[in-house]
Amino acid sequence: MPEPGSREERILLVEDEEPIRDLVQTALRFTGFTVESAASGPEGLALARNGTWHLIVLDVNLPGMDGFALCRRLRDGGDDVPVIFLTARDDPADLRAGFTGGGDDYLTKPFSLEELVLRVEAVLRRGQGRASERARIAVADLVIDDDAHRVWRGDREVELSPTEYRLLRYLAMNAGRVLSRPQIIDHVWDYGYAIEPSGVETYISYLRRKLDDRDARLIRTVRGVGYALREPDGASEEPEP
Ligand code: CA
Repeated sequence: MPEPGSREERILLVEDEEPIRDLVQTALRFTGFTVESAASGPEGLALARNGTWHLIVLDVNLPGMDGFALCRRLRDGGDDVPVIFLTARDDPADLRAGFTGGGDDYLTKPFSLEELVLRVEAVLRRGQGRASERARIAVADLVIDDDAHRVWRGDREVELSPTEYRLLRYLAMNAGRVLSRPQIIDHVWDYGYAIEPSGVETYISYLRRKLDDRDARLIRTVRGVGYALREPDGASEEPEP
């Protein structure tokens, strides 16, 4: 019998019904996965953004924010972690919304734990190629190792706070696009966390000081609109492998 944590995959479970949450968590741990759980949409979103996950098991009907909205927010932020939805029984509207909402698979309640474990293993196998592609984000000489949560500019490693890291990651995932302050707040700060648009400027200035204090600037201010991270003009240099 595998020990909990004997497999390398980390699974986030978001489910508000305690008996189901306990059963699913126990079954996945019994299979050897490391599992953490959340009981509401906002709590799930915060955990999803602040951790490294190989898969999310996501209930659709959740307090605070439903599972589809949560998944859309992750996808909009560039996160393509595989998602298995737990849906209400035979609700076709649920299923359609699930697949347009970026889910990889779904299970209809009530389901057997054996079925759940099989689906989880199947989705993880399909996602293996994707996981290694996801690990690194590179723009010019900026490299973000998303598994290790480490950042380099050229050959220099840069230490970032969790918020600075999420801000930089969001800008880098959307490299070349101008992102407005409200968009940035929406994707970088936890749901319901009150931050003024000037707070975004503060964090942009922290990032600039830590990794953009040179001629080839990556983070641009687009006056009256927001910010964009893009390759320095005229630069032909390739990112370090
Ligand atoms: Ca529910």
